[in-house]
Amino acid sequence: MEDTLLTKDPYVKVALNVPLRASFDYKIPKALAYRHHIRPGMRVKVPFGNGDRQSIGLVIETSTQSDFSDAQIKPLTALLDDSPIIPQELFDLCAWAARYYHHPIGEVFFHALPTSLRKGESADFRTETWWFVTEQGQQTDIDSLKNAKQQKAFLEAIQQHAEHGLSPHLISVLELTTNAAKGLEKKGLVRSEQRNLKRTVETHAHQTQVPPSLNLEQAAATKTILAMRNEFGVALLDGITGSGKTEVFLRVIEALLQEDKQVLVMVPEIGLTPQTLRRFESRFNTDIVLMHSNMTDRERLDAWLMIEHGDAKIIIGTRSSVFIPTANLGLIIIDEEHDASYKQHEGFRYHARDMAIKRAQGQNIPVLLASATPSYESLANALQKRYLWLKLRQRAGEAELPQMERVDLRGQSLKQGFSEYTLERMRQTLERREQVLVFLNRRGYAPTLMCHQCGWIAACDHCDVNLTVHKRANKLHCHHCDSHKPLTQECPECHSNELFTVGEGTEQVEGVLNQYFKQTPVLRIDRDSTQRKSALTQITQKIHEHDQAILVGTQMLAKGHHFPNVTLVVIMDADVGLFSSDFRGMERTAQLITQVAGRAGRSSKRGHVLLQTYHPDHAAIQCLCEQGYEALAMDGLRERQQLALPPFHHQVVIRAESQQEQQAMGLLMHLRNELSVHLSDDMQVVGPYAAIIVRKAGQHRALLSIKSPQRGNLHRVIASASRWLEQNTKNHKIRFAIDVDPLETF
Ligand code: ADP
Ligand code: ZN
Ligand code: ZN
Repeated sequence: MEDTLLTKDPYVKVALNVPLRASFDYKIPKALAYRHHIRPGMRVKVPFGNGDRQSIGLVIETSTQSDFSDAQIKPLTALLDDSPIIPQELFDLCAWAARYYHHPIGEVFFHALPTSLRKGESADFRTETWWFVTEQGQQTDIDSLKNAKQQKAFLEAIQQHAEHGLSPHLISVLELTTNAAKGLEKKGLVRSEQRNLKRTVETHAHQTQVPPSLNLEQAAATKTILAMRNEFGVALLDGITGSGKTEVFLRVIEALLQEDKQVLVMVPEIGLTPQTLRRFESRFNTDIVLMHSNMTDRERLDAWLMIEHGDAKIIIGTRSSVFIPTANLGLIIIDEEHDASYKQHEGFRYHARDMAIKRAQGQNIPVLLASATPSYESLANALQKRYLWLKLRQRAGEAELPQMERVDLRGQSLKQGFSEYTLERMRQTLERREQVLVFLNRRGYAPTLMCHQCGWIAACDHCDVNLTVHKRANKLHCHHCDSHKPLTQECPECHSNELFTVGEGTEQVEGVLNQYFKQTPVLRIDRDSTQRKSALTQITQKIHEHDQAILVGTQMLAKGHHFPNVTLVVIMDADVGLFSSDFRGMERTAQLITQVAGRAGRSSKRGHVLLQTYHPDHAAIQCLCEQGYEALAMDGLRERQQLALPPFHHQVVIRAESQQEQQAMGLLMHLRNELSVHLSDDMQVVGPYAAIIVRKAGQHRALLSIKSPQRGNLHRVIASASRWLEQNTKNHKIRFAIDVDPLETF
């Protein structure tokens, strides 16, 4: 045994959390190789960079050789794990993602790990020290500990708890000290034991609800999904709002739990409402682990470990939960699969839906995508029969789909954005003691502050945008870089105090409605009004308490909430996305309008939706109102195909930003020339062009777009582009990012 090396290769390739598309070679010290079998997926401590600072890295492979001479290679400092901290399938997924998204592999691996593991903490459950009395301690007369008052108290207590011992909690409740325990330990009267602390973060479910019997569509969908449960496959559950998609999840999950499998349910960033969680809790007798952004590092690690060990069966989480290792995963559900928050918009720009599908393929399990407004990508896959397309076209229970009506704003005199007709309809609804929801995707008081004398407009110092007026907070706020200044009363240019606001935000609309409808509570739901932790719960509680109420809100309202007494939905400005310079503008607007409209009439009362528009005859608005989202999406897909746009052609956008005005643009211009030899005829390069908001947070931004019908070709070009960019941004103050399958192209 002495001379058998457990790890035979002399080198390891290590991924470090640095923005370099490379791994780093280290020597394995003999002593380590004798004692440990070093494998991919274990963490190591290695010297790296300036002054050989110690960094945490992840072993990617062990290797017999290196491109560097032995003398150049440093030995690794320590091995942090006895076994890989992520299972093979996740290791492979991360490696794939690094290739597919052309992102530095170290950053991908470190993104996948909980923060405490990134810092090198041990991948174990937290332990706590319990104390037990020894045989000798049990027989010791407490009075023999004359002068040691604290030890006396401790011994007395522990003799009474001889069977179960004293936990840290009990020790503090009984006002005992661990110092006393240590004193007694030396005398051999007590002993300590380390215990795992597991159950700290899960919510306890209690089955209290009897499930409704499924309608025909729901039953058929459930059956189909269950039939695919033993192998990889993707199903698109395309069901109108309120059609009972969640009910279908619950049935499928139930069946998988009976097979002792785990289910990962992914939700958009702000998509999980307390209502949905309660629904899950009331249906299962198992522990549900929530992965959300408000967890401490320790809670996150505990949850991670519970899931990895298979102790948690149902996992509900946002984007990053796609990286959680599991013991026996049986299904991944992605709710609201069209939601843009599944795509990470900075750093490692992955799409969690696409990663989930890749993961499921590797683990040979099914994926269920669900939405009332599926992304054009998923619809195209369904049309091409790559996904199973399951449609729910009826509302569950008694509810009916709401009626959509266009309100022509042309030539109307408006009251803070409302037409006379809209206000009248609101009044009638409130008189019936029903609720109204007003949707306006613009928070704050007004989007613009202007001077009547000289035309000055309040603009951000760091971005090319106007500042939003927030009256209540008395601030001018930049929604792009988050900087703010006090709200001025005086024009800084001409010192006139005739400043006025242009346009409306939710804060203003809330105020206006409070004046119009004095008897009715007006509740605002947006990022400003829900900053405090339990604010959203409090607001929704109020909504349920009153029969008559008006809700004013941004897209936060569109997600998942169930307000049974809302029968009228007002879309203040249906035209926002019509003339967007982004080819996805129409898709987004249609999704948002349909989702918000879906909040109306979700119980037995029929709902109505008013779309205020200056373009009532616009083909898209007309199609959406008369035929619905699917018809609009089919038109949109045809158009995308004709124009060779995603999802038919694949797209990568390269972004660059620099403090100096022309540098980012210059870099991309140079890159474009470099790439020209690699481009094939079917590729289409656009740009470099300036971003719509050229300057953001002080950085000037430019983009270069490359499209191709062939992924393979595109990837080869991007691979050389990323090498070139890494080489050519070393000494400059230009940052670049590669965005594969971008959702934003401006
Ligand atoms: P979705 O997720 O498609 O928006 P939900 O699953 O939330 O729809 O269902 C909408 C409402 O209808 C919920 O209140 C739910 O409890 C109820 N519901 C769902 N399925 C049925 C059914 N088969 N019978 C009666 N009510 C149902
Ligand atoms: Zn002025
Ligand atoms: Zn700004």
